[in-house]
Amino acid sequence: MDLTTSYVFDAAHRIAGHPGKCAWLHGHTYHLEVTVSSRTLNPLGMVMDFDDLRDAVRKAVLDLWDHSTLLAADDPLGPAISAVQREAPDRVVLLPGQPTAEVLTREAWTRLEPQLPAGIALERVAIRETPSCGSAMSRPQA
Ligand SMILES: [Zn+2]
Repeated sequence: MDLTTSYVFDAAHRIAGHPGKCAWLHGHTYHLEVTVSSRTLNPLGMVMDFDDLRDAVRKAVLDLWDHSTLLAADDPLGPAISAVQREAPDRVVLLPGQPTAEVLTREAWTRLEPQLPAGIALERVAIRETPSCGSAMSRPQA
């Protein structure tokens, strides 16, 4: 049985080196969807409590990324933005790769999976930058 929740967060990013407009700093209202599963339901008939999943996603992803600037670790914009936005140094998030939907999906997976309670498996993480463009990652099937 699985359980899916969805979230919205706003963030700026750019794909440094992109040949088109994605190279310029811009923002998206990202849509994040998370699916978890369990072999059994808890005594209340749930895979897990929606609120507990929301708390895990908030701590793992949303608290860090919402209203942040997401950049590749080697993007010179990172230090530049931090220098003028000194009151919020944690709002510049440096990633181990370009902040594409694919890298954000992988990062969200890596951050969220260890936050889940025992017996709850992460099945799918999907992030959309726009209504028509996004990326998803699913747990490999055994
Ligand atoms: Zn973009």
